[in-house]
Amino acid sequence: MKSFFQNINIQKFDIQFADDEKCLEFLSQQKWKGKYICRKCGNTNFCKGKTPFSRRCTKCKYEESATANTIFHGCKISLKKAFKIVFLVCNKPEISTYKLSENIDIRQMTCWKFKKRITKCLENRSDLTKFQKDEIKKMI
Ligand SMILES: [Zn+2]
Repeated sequence: MKSFFQNINIQKFDIQFADDEKCLEFLSQQKWKGKYICRKCGNTNFCKGKTPFSRRCTKCKYEESATANTIFHGCKISLKKAFKIVFLVCNKPEISTYKLSENIDIRQMTCWKFKKRITKCLENRSDLTKFQKDEIKKMI
């Protein structure tokens, strides 16, 4: 994800992630990359879930959203803004939360909390593989 965010400029970013739906679509693509496996039962067949870009297991009916098990899960700010924070931080890791706040037009405290959330998320998650943790670390 880091390399992806670093390889596009801000104009392209704003077009590609113009709304929450586009962010969800991207997350969904990144998450499953064509090989869906149900977290509950291991089934590989799915149908559409209730929310946009979610997937539902055809066997046990477990539904997984595109944001589940990502740092964006249950995010208080819009996905579009959360994506922008990741984008800006990837491109300029030393960016201050003050600058982020100015750029994205959300409160500085919210930016700070989201940045903190990314690191806290890593510490608390035992369900993530080392590979997944490294992937997330690359983003921050
Ligand atoms: Zn299942």
